[in-house]
Amino acid sequence: MSDVFISRDKVIDAIEREFGDEARPECISAKEAVYSVELADVAPVVHGHWVNRYYHPMYVCGCGNCSICGIVSPATNYCSNCGAKMDESEDKE
Ligand SMILES: [Zn+2]
Repeated sequence: MSDVFISRDKVIDAIEREFGDEARPECISAKEAVYSVELADVAPVVHGHWVNRYYHPMYVCGCGNCSICGIVSPATNYCSNCGAKMDESEDKE
């Protein structure tokens, strides 16, 4: 079974928006149900991009998120220091 993770605060906001009055018993019950769910052990995905990247024969580049430089395989799509997923455009500075 596949699972997805969403922000509890955003779910609470959506419930309050849906009911319009956070004092309504149905709204309180819905929020209590959300708060009763066990929290997942997840961390937000950090997105980044390589900076100053050049090929030699491995890529030498820095992380746009944590600024740590290193030698990485051309196939590497994440920073080994901070874990940023390198899916942002490189011209984004
Ligand atoms: Zn990094």
